[in-house]
Amino acid sequence: MIINKRAKTLTHQLFSLRQRGKRIGLVPTMGALHAGHLALIEAAKNAADITVGSIFVNPAQFNNPDDFRHYPVTLEKDIEALLAAGCDVLFLPAVDEIYPPGYQKKQYALGRLENILEGRYRPGHFQGVCQAVDRLLEIVQPDQLYLGQKDYQQCMIVSELLKLTGRTTVDLRIMPTVREPDGLAMSSRNLRLNEIQRQKAVALFDALRFIKKNWPKQPAALLKEAAREELERKGFAVDYVEIADAQTLETVNGTEKPAVALVAASLDNVRLIDNLLLN
Ligand code: AMP
Repeated sequence: MIINKRAKTLTHQLFSLRQRGKRIGLVPTMGALHAGHLALIEAAKNAADITVGSIFVNPAQFNNPDDFRHYPVTLEKDIEALLAAGCDVLFLPAVDEIYPPGYQKKQYALGRLENILEGRYRPGHFQGVCQAVDRLLEIVQPDQLYLGQKDYQQCMIVSELLKLTGRTTVDLRIMPTVREPDGLAMSSRNLRLNEIQRQKAVALFDALRFIKKNWPKQPAALLKEAAREELERKGFAVDYVEIADAQTLETVNGTEKPAVALVAASLDNVRLIDNLLLN
């Protein structure tokens, strides 16, 4: 595996590989890698000739400085895991490789998707995601881009970004959420949970399963309220429990369209998200 910290040399190396007909798959991450990330690497390995994994804890997407400061970093383990997974290139940029001196922050016209759900509770988050992903796309110029369904709204935002920036040939591949044996969605932030919090955290997935089991037999509003109450009873501070159109993320009541249940809640100051397709 080649570890590259420089944007320019990486672009150059990948350019010559592309000229030789190699197809490039990009897996962007913020590190603290787990099986969810590695499933994306594996998917890229299976479909692309060159798999590029990136690790960049993007300051622009953290609306909460404490969250940024406490974001787990496990670089040595990450490198070992990527090696074992057969990743070809690790892009490991410092902040000024992604946002070099003179970098002009772009504003992306993301529409209502930017300000609902995650966007409502994390103002500026999706602009920050787009800034980093836009730069990564510019540097790597991938044929395929691999994202996890775990971050459902982020997938929709990045799909929008590809359209907004005219990168219509990039093949966006969204991979299913990888879970712990008890159902908790794997997340780098799980590393911040103590043992008791870790046991409680599965309640997030339980809430989604409860909704899936009872929807549409019971009205959406009632299910959302019941799920919220149960999470609060278990000690979560709930940002949202939503049942939304799987294509637009608009709140749904009827059953005519595919729907997704989404939840965001914090245990003390560790904020977790999850989602589940309903039909
Ligand atoms: P992150 O490092 O959290 O920014 O995540 C990097 C990529 O891995 C994103 O596309 C995430 O959606 C994806 N990802 C994170 N957790 C999981 C998971 N449990 N299963 C599948 N993909 C995931």
